[in-house]
Amino acid sequence: QPVIKVAIAGYGNLGRGAQAAINQSPDMQLVGVFSRRDPASVTLIDNSVPVYSMDDIAQYKDEIDVLILCGGSKSDLPEQGPKLAGLFNIVDSFDTHAKIPEYYESLDTPAKQAGKVALLSVGWDPGLFSINRLYGEAILPVGETYTFWGKGLSQGHSDAVRRVDGVKSGVQYTLPSESAMERVRSGEQPTLSTREKHTRECYVVLEDGADEETVRNAIVTMPDYFADYDTTVHFIDQQTFDRDHQKMPHGGFVIRSGVSGTENEKNNQTIEFSLKLGSNPEFTSSVLVAYARAVYKMNLAGETGAKTVFDVAPGLLSSKSPAQLRKELL
Ligand code: NDP
Repeated sequence: QPVIKVAIAGYGNLGRGAQAAINQSPDMQLVGVFSRRDPASVTLIDNSVPVYSMDDIAQYKDEIDVLILCGGSKSDLPEQGPKLAGLFNIVDSFDTHAKIPEYYESLDTPAKQAGKVALLSVGWDPGLFSINRLYGEAILPVGETYTFWGKGLSQGHSDAVRRVDGVKSGVQYTLPSESAMERVRSGEQPTLSTREKHTRECYVVLEDGADEETVRNAIVTMPDYFADYDTTVHFIDQQTFDRDHQKMPHGGFVIRSGVSGTENEKNNQTIEFSLKLGSNPEFTSSVLVAYARAVYKMNLAGETGAKTVFDVAPGLLSSKSPAQLRKELL
């Protein structure tokens, strides 16, 4: 079996996770990491490969089968994606849902011109959750799909908590509402408001002399971030904060509640997919690495242009042969 030569572009949380996931994949070899920063200043999780400057990436055009883009969705990928799609097979985790159609178009032309595949918006949401939303709708056309997120650390909301006067350290977790999920699972197909679907929980270390009630009030009434939710604020000491709140957990649920049968004899049918992730970035990059394998195979088979998870056959994600998969997993 050929060994797939992969490289990583951008080395933050996802870049580190991608290197760890490639290390777990015997059919893949990491050939290098590319960064916009001075390569000497980038510390890898292990020094098995060189770090190169992003400025030199075109030189490695013929040495890389698939490039895994680990930049941020806000400003890195919109700029890097179209350029790199014209040089390499790429896979990325672009997660600005509203801008996916526009981003798809920006990758499609350069990828087609270069004869490469550009697979965008891979991860868990978008990604595995999107596939499960599609399955739900296609199999149970009469029904409703619900997505709940959490328990998960939200970077944006944690930043908002830390900006409140009197807060020394703070994190925010989003939690799916158990009662809302039970209503969905019962087949009720409820219409749920924002407040009903998720709750928010904050853990805060106060500055010396700061007042709990003042800080709590400033957080729970903050417009856009907290005012539309039921928010609980827990005050803890720095030691507990450092011990219990340094990880990036996340996850969630996609639930399709549908009905089959006839008007007189209906049956409720529920499809549920869930993730409980100890590390959001490590999981996201594990998904990216499995899909990098598919990108390699699709391009070998002659496919080109922009693709999403909807265009990738599941068997392509595996390192096993189709015959082996039929025998072992069907
Ligand atoms: P980071 O902020 O950790 O990294 C983004 C980029 O910032 C890196 O590629 C790196 O580029 C640069 N960078 C990283 N560390 C430093 C540093 N110390 N100093 C200067 N620059 C640095 O983002 P994440 O890896 O956590 O996430 C990337 C994207 O993944 C997110 O924007 C999100 O949109 C997406 N995502 C998608 C998910 C999905 O399910 N689809 C789930 C989770 C995340 P360089 O090396 O070139 O400097």
